Amino acid sequence: MTGSIPIQSVRLYEVSPRDGLQNEPEILSIDAKRRLILGLVGAGFRDIEVTSFVRPSWVPQLADAAELVRSLPAVQGVRYWGLVPNERGLERAIECGLRNVATVLSASETHNRKNVNRTRQESLAAMRQVIATAKDEGVAVRSYISTVFGCPYEGAVAVRDSVALASQLFEAGASEVALGDTTGMGDPVLVQRVVGAMAAAGLPLSRIALHLHDTKGTALANVLSGYLAGVRIFDGSIGGVGGCPYAPGASGNAASEDLAHMFQAMGIETGIDLERASQVGVALADDLGRELPGRYHRFWLGSQARARATRSA
Ligand code: MG
Repeated sequence: MTGSIPIQSVRLYEVSPRDGLQNEPEILSIDAKRRLILGLVGAGFRDIEVTSFVRPSWVPQLADAAELVRSLPAVQGVRYWGLVPNERGLERAIECGLRNVATVLSASETHNRKNVNRTRQESLAAMRQVIATAKDEGVAVRSYISTVFGCPYEGAVAVRDSVALASQLFEAGASEVALGDTTGMGDPVLVQRVVGAMAAAGLPLSRIALHLHDTKGTALANVLSGYLAGVRIFDGSIGGVGGCPYAPGASGNAASEDLAHMFQAMGIETGIDLERASQVGVALADDLGRELPGRYHRFWLGSQARARATRSA
């Protein structure tokens, strides 16, 4: 082998249309959502979580799930994902043509009870059923485990509990398991411990994603730690949308442009056109009527403003 340099790459999974918008007070029109999703496709994102099939009264921001999914064009290589809370949600997702769905349960018993009024084991049993039905239909399932890096009620969460849940979800047939830092409690050393424990248990790191939050400013450090520990799939939301500073329990999604920029600066391929991604963020900020928290997003706005000032000077 001479002269061939192995190309490192990561896959960025975009959550802004679902996890972003559901945590923002504004409700976007279906046209604005379509613009966002098609903009993400145009910027190179290949995995986009577009909506959720929870009961519309629970998440009014995403009440147009079926109509939105039906309106999306099929694009070669692009996978649209929809969150499904249960079998009924799965049916609705499949009815409108989705081929990729996501499920959620929590690593923390208290958080799971507060969220869905079930024990973790009850949730796991329900998820097994959803995954089995999805597999029968040839539908891929990403299973989120939330609060892996800490629980707002219990504090520290036992790493072995997260490993056991991930292992059971893979056994049930999940194609991917996404480890969520729901309230931004993770740190780089904990990320390394959790990922290391997953690998030591024989779980496939190529199918483990990290869904990290920037609630307290640790998202990029945690992403890098996850990368160095062997993870190659990272969740992000354009402009960091979904971290509304005025909402209690703000999620603070890692910003997709920040992730894309950091990896590209390190020579790691993301497939993302950062300029186009930045334009998508600006359009979304316009639709929401305010600036978004993402660092690269704000840098981009500043550089555009400086360029305009230079031209008019
Ligand atoms: Mg999130």
